[in-house]
Amino acid sequence: MRKTIAILIVLFAVMLSSEWCQAGGKKDRQADYAGSRIRFKVLIHYTEYAEEAHVQFAHQTISFFQKLTVGNGFEVDVTTDLKDHALDELLKYDVLISANSAPHSPQERRLFEEYMENGGGWIGFHAAAYNDRNTNWPWFLEFIGGGVFKCNNWPPQPALVKLDTRRHPVTKNLPREFVIPASEFYQWTPEPRSNKDIKVLLSLSEKNYPIGLKDIVYGGDWPLVWTNKNYRMIYLNMGHGDESFIDAEQQLLFINALRWIVSTNLAGNPFND
Ligand code: ZN
Repeated sequence: MRKTIAILIVLFAVMLSSEWCQAGGKKDRQADYAGSRIRFKVLIHYTEYAEEAHVQFAHQTISFFQKLTVGNGFEVDVTTDLKDHALDELLKYDVLISANSAPHSPQERRLFEEYMENGGGWIGFHAAAYNDRNTNWPWFLEFIGGGVFKCNNWPPQPALVKLDTRRHPVTKNLPREFVIPASEFYQWTPEPRSNKDIKVLLSLSEKNYPIGLKDIVYGGDWPLVWTNKNYRMIYLNMGHGDESFIDAEQQLLFINALRWIVSTNLAGNPFND
């Protein structure tokens, strides 16, 4: 009898926990258990024609997000040319990740603009937001908050970062300050924070100054992660070299960013289905 009660308790606990884990997904419960439920789709865009440390990061980005698809929770496709996809195909992706470069050719740029203006989602790392006087893409400059590349620390190194807010899905479970792995960080002019459409989520701590051994930065506002409220986008300045995925807190930040952008899908939050 005691054994029967114990089994019943275990069964009840399992039922409770599966209710909790599958909250909101009752109609597709069968498919969920079969592991065939694809909640959302990700397209990673990158280039092989970049400096070695940026290509290295792109390859690691692809592995990182592909590994997260275990159990087929979502799909990851990879492209080096957005033109391989018509606009309606692109719009089937909940998020486009620019791993080491912004779209480059005029056709790619036009496609990207249309994708974003029609509700697309974007995560950009490091060099994806790099722009200077030769970039000639006003739409993109407005999109990323108006900042043009100003300077960087060199060599790449770890840095202390601080949250600008904890009242945001991307930062709510992160420490107020933590050290992130070695990277090159870009400073921008004008500072993205001065743009009313930009919400800065995480910045380089001023405790790092002066930062750099060859190229040294002595001060200034230095946002690293931000979003433009007019788009479903987030930019993360990390992404130079092969150490970006060695740290749990930074990985959590990346996963939070993915989850947040996907959850803001205009067609509905796929995590609530
Ligand atoms: Zn770099």
